[in-house]
Formats: sequence, C-alpha cells, structure tokens
Amino acid sequence: MKQKGLTESDTIAALATPFGVGGLGVIRISGPKALEVALKVFRPKSPPFELPPRKVRYGFVYDPSSGEVVDEAIAVYMKAPYSYTREDVVELSCHGGYLVLRKVLELVLKSGAREALPGEFTKRAFLNGRIDLAQAEAVLELISAQSEQALRLAERQLEGVLSKRIASLKGRLIGLVAPLEAWLDLPEEEVPEPSVEELREGLKGVLEEVEELLGHWRQEVVYREGVKTAFVGRANVGKSSLFNALLGRDRAIVTPIPGTTTDVIEETVIIEGIPFCLMDMAGIGRPKDPVEEEGVRRARRKFEEADLLLLVFDLGGPLEDEDLELLRQVEEAGKPYLLVLNKRDLPWAFDPKEVAKAPFVLTSALTGEGLKELREAMARVVLKAHGVGSPSELVPLNTRHKRVLERARAKVLGIMEGLEGTLKGDLLLYELRELLDLLGEITGETTPEEVLEEIFSRFCIGK
Ligand code: GDP
Repeated sequence: MKQKGLTESDTIAALATPFGVGGLGVIRISGPKALEVALKVFRPKSPPFELPPRKVRYGFVYDPSSGEVVDEAIAVYMKAPYSYTREDVVELSCHGGYLVLRKVLELVLKSGAREALPGEFTKRAFLNGRIDLAQAEAVLELISAQSEQALRLAERQLEGVLSKRIASLKGRLIGLVAPLEAWLDLPEEEVPEPSVEELREGLKGVLEEVEELLGHWRQEVVYREGVKTAFVGRANVGKSSLFNALLGRDRAIVTPIPGTTTDVIEETVIIEGIPFCLMDMAGIGRPKDPVEEEGVRRARRKFEEADLLLLVFDLGGPLEDEDLELLRQVEEAGKPYLLVLNKRDLPWAFDPKEVAKAPFVLTSALTGEGLKELREAMARVVLKAHGVGSPSELVPLNTRHKRVLERARAKVLGIMEGLEGTLKGDLLLYELRELLDLLGEITGETTPEEVLEEIFSRFCIGK
C-alpha cells in the first residue's frame, strides 16, 4: 500500500457507496485537511457557513473555480478522534448519479485531497488504533458475507472475540516470560530461576489454548469456505436432475441418454447457512469414447477434492454391481456421504433396506419429493462430521489466523521439546518472545508490512 509519494498524513477521499445510480452517494474525506477541503466545495444553505462537529448541515456543492452549483448535499463533520479513521472526517451525501458523484469527487480531489487506495480508510482506522487487524479483516468479511452465519461470525470478529482470546493467550505467555526475564536481568537480586516444570506446565496451557482455537477454525470452515459436494453414481440415475432440483433451475443438461454429462459443472446453493458447492460430473463408470474418458478422469479428480459425497442410486431399476462397487469406494473414501435413492416416484426395483446401513434419503428429482429431507440431511451430515457448534459459540478465525496459529503451535512444541534438552536462559527467552510476536501478527502489532498490504488491498476503494 505504500506507493511512492503517498503518506498517511495525506487527506484522502473516495466514494464510500457503490458507483452507479442510487438514491444517495456518499463521498468520504479523511485526514488533517478534511474540513478545509470540504468547505472549499460545500457551502451550507444559510449562515453560519461552517461545519460544526457532529452536526448535519444542508447545503450545496459548488465548483470553486466557477461558483457554479453542482449538487445539493448534506454534510457531516466528524472531528478526530470521533470518526471511523480517528482522523477528521467529512461525509458529503449527494444525489446518487454517476456523473454527479464523479464531478463532486473531482472537485474534492482538486481542492487538496487525493484519491484513497483500496481499504485505506480501514487501514487508517487500524493504524490509529481504533480497531486491530483481526477487526479490520472482519470489516472485509462483513461486507462480503454470503450467508447469515458468515455475517454473524464477522460481527463477532468485529466485536473483538478473537482479539480478546489472543490477548489472554499472550497474557499467559507473559506470565512465563516475565519471571525468566527478571531472573536473567537481575542475577544478584536472588530472583529464583523459573523451573522447567513451571515452564512446561505453562506452555502446555498455551498449547491447549492454541489447539482449542484451531478447533474453531475447523468448524467454521464449513460456513466460510463451504462444502464441495460431488454427485457420484452410475449414468442416468438422476444426478444432473438432482443437481438442478437443488439449485431450483436448469443448469446441467438432463437427457435420457446415458453419459451426457461429460464435463464438471459447479454451482453454489446455501442450505442452513452453509454454502454447498455442487459439482455435477460424468458418471464414474466405464468410459465409451475419448470425450467421456476425459469426463471420467475429471470426475475422479473431483471425487478426491470433494468434502461431501452424494451417491445416487436409481430406485426404479435393480441394484447393479457397479452401484455396490461405488458404495464401497465412497465408504472407503472416509468422507461424509449420503446415499440418495432417487426416482422414488417409480415402482421400486429393490428394497431400500438392502442398503440401509448407509445414511440414506429417498428422493424424486422429478416430483420434488424428498428434496427437503435431502437438504436437511446434507447440512446434518456435514455439521456432524465437522463437530460444528452454533456460530454464536465460535471464535471467528480466517485462513490467515489459522496459519499463524499453526506456526504458533509448531513453535510451542519446539520450545517444549527444547526444554527437555538444553534450551534455557537467553535462548529460551528469545524463543518465547518470538512466540509472543507471532501471536501479535493476528491482531496486527507485529504483522509484516507485506501482509498488511495484502489484506487491505482486498478491500474496495472507499472502505
Ligand atoms: P445422470 O446421468 O445421473 O445425471 O441422470 P439425469 O439427471 O440425466 O437423468 C437421467 C434420466 O432420468 C432423465 O430422463 C431424467 O428425466 C430421469 N430422472 C431423473 N430423476 C428422476 C426421478 O426422480 N424420477 C423419474 N421418474 N425420472 C427421473
């Protein structure tokens, strides 16, 4: 984010609402000259011609060079530190037309502000200590949340649930570092040397807490990243029809000719807050021509990639060896799976009890019967496999947090191993401090600049 010539003391401006036609468009100005810049382009309708903090003023946006009125607007001045960025901020709510907003923003930029970079407002809020890094990331997740559950997790992160846990973890570590430091710094003062036993116990506590946090990530991944769901089954059992029925529209080609789905199609449906990425694919059967062969090859790859397998059987026809062979493969894959006995509207050619040791659902992609049960079963199987609790009990973590925690776990284990050998004194202190710094990466006290850049560049301009 540090581009040449750009500094954090610049006054920045951007459109804070989406570009396009809307009822309103808000231009946000932040930085030491925010008020000065705003008053160059905005004039309240009646005196006094100023913007007192935290008061709404109605007036007009002018072109300072010609005196011409560009738009009518409402202006609000939020004096530092009582603003999103903790800097002086002025927000101009204008009419939401593309040209009007472009024009107002241009005037603001000509009057002494520069255009904000993606995420720069939020970055300033972070740099000025209003929020920590995990909370800044929560802002991003809040904006992009695709389901209620993802939104709830982002809100909890914004509240600082993770930050509090990290603070307590660091507190625990400081409890180990401080006596060691005292003993190293003040050898004459007769401070006792912390015993290996104490250190070992303390680190064990840290390790348990890190493990516990990582457990939350494993649960949330279901809500955040979704579940790759693969339909498997012989040709013509109704995989594409079920795929379409779950989506509620026609996406995959359905024909009575076996082996028509030779490519993999992916679509996402949200069931009970969980995004299921449905993958329709060629039947993993015996290929009959090269196009199908390629389809079957891709299907196998997806089979391996999937988090949930939906094995489809055709109730209207007898069970075939291939069905049982697939069932065996699915069971062997060791992944959560469901047996979907489709075409229940037809006369049944076998008794579902024959396969009842597997979790199964009876459906008809044609009439829609059993689809509700299928959806519920999909959510149930996945939540159970991941041991997921309610989102309101989860500590929100993203992939970056998880990676840092994994590094922390490795580090704790390394130190614990070292303790049993020769690791002590200054070197031990050094290692413990490194561990503290590592945890600080989550909340942003010690995060490398490149990581910060990467995080804030994912924001849109104006946020
Ligand atoms: P796929 O090869 O497994 O993807 O199977 P398709 O979805 O292409 O379906 C094969 C044929 O079975 C088509 O003619 C579908 O209309 C039909 N079909 C699919 N589901 C059902 C169902 O639940 N009941 C009945 N009666 N026919 C179905």
